[in-house]
This record gives sequence, C-alpha cells and structure tokens, in this order.
Amino acid sequence: MEKIEHIGIAVNSIQSAGNIYEKLLNTTIYKTEEVASENVLTAFLQCGPNKIELLEATSEGSPIARFIAKKGEGIHHIAFEVTDIRAEMQRLKNEGFILLNDEPKRGADNKLVCFVHPKGTNGVLVELCEELSNATGFSL
Ligand code: ZN
Repeated sequence: MEKIEHIGIAVNSIQSAGNIYEKLLNTTIYKTEEVASENVLTAFLQCGPNKIELLEATSEGSPIARFIAKKGEGIHHIAFEVTDIRAEMQRLKNEGFILLNDEPKRGADNKLVCFVHPKGTNGVLVELCEELSNATGFSL
C-alpha cells in the first residue's frame, strides 16, 4: 500500500455536503462523477496529497443508501493507493482477508478498485485503488 488515497464519506446530498466540505477544506469540488454500477454520485475535493470523496446514493438499492439507513451519514471507507491491484488482492487473500469482488472494478476518478470486507478489518471498509493509467491488461 502506497498511501491513503482518499476517505469516502456517505452523505444524503452532495449539494449540501459539498458546500460544507468546500468551506471546511477551503477549496472547491474539482470533479463529480456518477458510478452507475454502484448507484452512487461522487464528488472529490483535494486536501494536500489526499482526497475526500463524497458519496450520494442515486437509488434506494445503492450500497450508500443502505449504509446511511443503518448508520447515518459519516465515514464510509478508507481508500489506499496500490501500484498493482491484482498483486495486492492476491496478497490480502493469502492473508485471509475477504475481498468483496474477485476482479478489480472500474471505480470513480479513473481508478481500478476492490473492496475489503469490514468484518476482517475491525469494522472499516477498505478500498484498494490503482490509477487506471498504470493498469495493465484491463479492457472495458
Ligand atoms: Zn472511494
């Protein structure tokens, strides 16, 4: 793992949460993007070398809608940058971690991503992400 790439925060509304986080970080959202496969709308803010990702559900079946129904708004996941997501997924599998997907998926912000089940990480949903421009052997 290279560094914390971003922290994902589940919110009811990107419009209102975006205002708050723009004020908090004294910056502006540099990108919003819908991830249709996950039924989420995302917005990113840069904070030094790290990012904050705001996540809003776009449907009731969205994992973000289920998360908020259960726990309310708040920190949803921590994402770590990796240089070779497949190698890192294999390493974690060998260590006994439960991965939520067998193959890397296309995530927001030009990333290949994989999630690690929070059961094995003390309640924290962990995301691995690899910059898509670095990824090899992946075709959409
Ligand atoms: Zn994320």
